[in-house]
Amino acid sequence: MVDEAAVEEFKASLRGELIQPSDESYDEARKVYNGMIDRRPRMIARCADVADVITAVNFGRENDLLIAIRGGGHNGGGLGICDDGLVIDLSLIKYTRVDPAARTVRVGAGCTWGDVDHATHALGLATPTGIISTTGVGGLTLGGGMGYLTRKCGLTIDNLLEADIVLADGRFVTASAEENEDLFWAIRGGGGNFGVVTSFLFKLHPIHMDYAGPMLWPLEQATEVMQWYREFITQAPDDIYGFFLFLVVPPGPPFPEHLHNKKMCGVVWCYTGPAEQAETTFKPIRSFGPPALDLVGPMPHPQLQSMFDELYPPGLQWYWRADFFNELSDEAIALHVKYGSEIPTMHSSMHLYPINGAAHRIGKTDTAWSYRDATWAQVIVGVDPDPTNNEQIIAWTKEYWDALHPHSAGGAYVNFMMDEGEERIKASYRDNYDRLVEIKKQFDPTNLFRVNQNIRPT
Ligand SMILES: Cc1cc2nc3c(=O)[nH]c(=O)nc-3n(C[C@H](O)[C@H](O)[C@H](O)COP(=O)(O)OP(=O)(O)OC[C@H]3O[C@@H](n4cnc5c(N)ncnc54)[C@H](O)[C@@H]3O)c2cc1C
Repeated sequence: MVDEAAVEEFKASLRGELIQPSDESYDEARKVYNGMIDRRPRMIARCADVADVITAVNFGRENDLLIAIRGGGHNGGGLGICDDGLVIDLSLIKYTRVDPAARTVRVGAGCTWGDVDHATHALGLATPTGIISTTGVGGLTLGGGMGYLTRKCGLTIDNLLEADIVLADGRFVTASAEENEDLFWAIRGGGGNFGVVTSFLFKLHPIHMDYAGPMLWPLEQATEVMQWYREFITQAPDDIYGFFLFLVVPPGPPFPEHLHNKKMCGVVWCYTGPAEQAETTFKPIRSFGPPALDLVGPMPHPQLQSMFDELYPPGLQWYWRADFFNELSDEAIALHVKYGSEIPTMHSSMHLYPINGAAHRIGKTDTAWSYRDATWAQVIVGVDPDPTNNEQIIAWTKEYWDALHPHSAGGAYVNFMMDEGEERIKASYRDNYDRLVEIKKQFDPTNLFRVNQNIRPT
């Protein structure tokens, strides 16, 4: 129980809002992206600035409250919210400042990737992010960050230059290659374990127009397409990115009616090399078993970045399981084709994201993200608007994952994990785990920040 007078004092000291169960906005404020998550925090501190975050961290610690940190609220397992405790909601800390000369962008922790793309695109620049623009900058970055620019520019963390952080004891520090180096190492993959990041500084690249979009093939060709894709993407120049997927074609534009609701396989491409070489680069791709649908063409980078936003609005039911893969054997492909053919609902899918190219050129121990040698991050997602289908989407996701896991590299991308226990977390950090524990002991010895893929300070 928290003393009511202390709560009132806390509320009065914030520039932002303190939302409690009796407030009208409470139910809206506690919603996260995954509609399967239904948690009821004791209070939500919607912080307006760093000072509010410091006050909230101190209040949570002094009152022995469980603390959840909320960035964009997109975490599949609902790690941006908790039952009973205090949610430090960063959504009001929303600003960007692009420095075109230095090619950097400073980003407030409440931004989504759509906010960042909007700001940087105006200056002909971009940084690597994820494939849905409504995802939060905070969680995606701290877990690693994979997307269309991974092969060309590396993971999001490979482009992180600096972060401002409120620590568990309320101190405010900056972490970079020059300052608090251990902390900087840990936050590049170690998630929200080490403090509340209030702002990020990212490196930018001259990326403006892409030659991009999906290409789809009939399911009957899936084995052939996967085998071809396996060879192609492991040898392709860094300018080409393409993730493989199984999908049910959405029943609406831009998809032609004869393909609506059909199970298919495909690759979503993003080419960021010289525009005049785009058509030539795609010639061998198009000449391999011509696709049933080819929506690849020139488009502004933010258009690709938000292409699937409408298909995946907030509030759908989500269940996902993931793994890293070093290779894609014929045996694994046969299993993919079997389960890919059994996708249970229109929104459900399997994505194989390539994480080679530039992301491979960073050492395994250079950041907390350990799987620098893996070629793919796989995610199987059971998604549907209707909760009565939850059993079905969860069963398919688990069975698919169980079948493929023996072929995997062992661990998974932490941002695609549900609550899967300590062994899975250790498997995901491998040799970097012990160093993460040491840094956790130094910066959060009492494990104040534990609503995350938790690295225990013991
Ligand atoms: C539709 C969808 C598409 C996705 N696509 C991609 C993709 O293409 N690439 C990719 O890499 N990932 C992707 N993800 C996964 C995504 O990276 C994670 O879900 C991530 O946790 C989302 O971050 P968030 O800030 O929105 O989440 P939240 O739920 O707000 O937070 C997630 C975790 O991060 C911590 N956290 C968030 N912000 C901060 C902060 N400022 N300081 C400290 N801790 C913080 C939270 O405490 C929590 O543990 C996708 C997720 C969804 C739902």
